[in-house]
Amino acid sequence: MRLQQILEKLIEQGATYCDIRKEVWNRTSMTLKDGDLEAMVQGDERGAMVRVLYDRGWGCVGTGDLQKLEEASERALLMAKKGAKYKKEKTGLADVDTHTESVKIPMKKNFMDVHPEEKLDLLKELHSFFDEETANSTDLRYNDSLVKKEIITSDGSHVKMEIPRLLIYLIITGKSDTIQKASEGVGSTGGYELTERAFDKAEVVQERLKNLLKAKTPPSGKMSLIMDPHLAGVFAHEAFGHAAEGDLVSSGNSCLYGKLGEKVASEIVTIKDDPTIDSYGSFPFDDEGTKARKRVLVKKGILNDFILDRENAWKLDMQPNGGARAEDFRVKPLVRMSNTIIEPGEMDFDELVEQVDKGVYAKSSSGGQVSTVQGTFQFNAQEAYLIENGEIVTPLRDVSFNGFTLETLQNVIGITDEMQIGIGHCGKGQTAPVGDGGGHVLISEVTVGGRE
Ligand SMILES: [Zn+2]
Repeated sequence: MRLQQILEKLIEQGATYCDIRKEVWNRTSMTLKDGDLEAMVQGDERGAMVRVLYDRGWGCVGTGDLQKLEEASERALLMAKKGAKYKKEKTGLADVDTHTESVKIPMKKNFMDVHPEEKLDLLKELHSFFDEETANSTDLRYNDSLVKKEIITSDGSHVKMEIPRLLIYLIITGKSDTIQKASEGVGSTGGYELTERAFDKAEVVQERLKNLLKAKTPPSGKMSLIMDPHLAGVFAHEAFGHAAEGDLVSSGNSCLYGKLGEKVASEIVTIKDDPTIDSYGSFPFDDEGTKARKRVLVKKGILNDFILDRENAWKLDMQPNGGARAEDFRVKPLVRMSNTIIEPGEMDFDELVEQVDKGVYAKSSSGGQVSTVQGTFQFNAQEAYLIENGEIVTPLRDVSFNGFTLETLQNVIGITDEMQIGIGHCGKGQTAPVGDGGGHVLISEVTVGGRE
C-alpha cells in the first residue's frame, strides 16, 4: 500500500492527524585508539515511523520492516484511541504551510565512494601527526552518515530530503604533574571534502594539550570572563537554548516561561537558532515536514521566540518553526535545537581583552550542568588563560564557572565581530547533531573557580 493510501485510511477511521516518516540510513563509524583500530561499523538500515493523533491521544509506532507499514499504522491508531481515553489534557497541532519538495544537501566528494580503508588511513595519519611526548594517548573517531527521508502528512505535505553528515572527533590525553585531556571535532553537513580541515584541528588540539600540561590552577571569585566562540555557543545552547525549547516552556519547566517580550539579556545580545546555515545541525525540513527557518530567540536583549514543533506551538498559541527532530525512525520527534548562535557584535578581540583588569579567557567546553527550570549553569572550560591589566598572561587548567543564566546574559558587555561555529551532539533522551558558536563574548561578574 502506498504511503498516501495508508494516511487516507487512517483519516477515514477517524484519525485527527497522521504522518509517516520513512528513512534509509547509510553509516560508517570507526575508532582508532592509540593507533589501533578499536571498532569499525558499517551499516545500511531502513524503517519508518507512523504517528497518529486521535482526538487528544497520540500513537507512534516505528518499524524496521517497510512491508509491515500498514500493520504499524493500525497499531498506532489503536494506541492513539487508547491514549485519547486516558488523557485529560486537550491537544492539537498549529497549522503550517504545506510543501511538496525534494531537497538534497550536496557532497562535493561523496563519502559513500570512499573505501573504508582510506577513511582508516586518514585516522592513522592523524594519529601519527600527534607528538607522543605530549599526547600519551589518542582516541580518534570518524563518522559519516547519509539519511534519505520521506515525510508525508495527512494535511498535504510530502517532502523528500537527503542529509549527509561527516564528523571527525579528536581526543588526546597527556600527563605532567596532572592528567589533561584536549578534544575537538570537525565536520558539518556535506561530504568527504570536510576531512580536509581535520589536520588544522589536530594542530589546535595538540597546542591546547601542551598549554594545559604547563598550566596553573585558576584564581577563584567574581571576575570578567571572555568565552571563545565555541564556549559561547555551548553556553547559548545549554544554558539558554534548552530553556527556549517549546516543550519545556509549555510544560512550565523553563525559566523563560511567561517571559516573551521581556528583557532577558543585555541589549547587545541576539541569539538565534538556525537550521538553514551550512553547519552540522542543519536540515531543510524538520521531522514533521515543516520547512526549516531561522528562529531569533533573543533580539537585542528581548526574548522573541521559542523553538517550536506543531503541538507545542498550538499549546502556546504561537507559530511552529521547524523545531521537531527525531534521532531516527524508531522514535518520535521532540523539540530540538539546530545551530545555536550568539550573533557577532562590533568589537575586535584585542579590544575585548583590553577591557579586562582581572579575568579569565576560557576556550572550548568540557561538559557541565544546567537547570532549565532554575535557570542555573555550571560549565568547565577545556583551555583557559589568566588576563591581567588587559593582557593574556598565563595558561590555566581546570577552570569552571557558574551562575544564573539570565543574570549572566544581562552582564554581557562585549561581543567580537566574527563567526565561528563548533559541532556537538545534544542529548535529550535522543541524540541530535547540533552546531553552536558566534563571536567571542565578554561577561562581567562571573563566578569562576577551579574544579577537582
Ligand atoms: Zn543540548
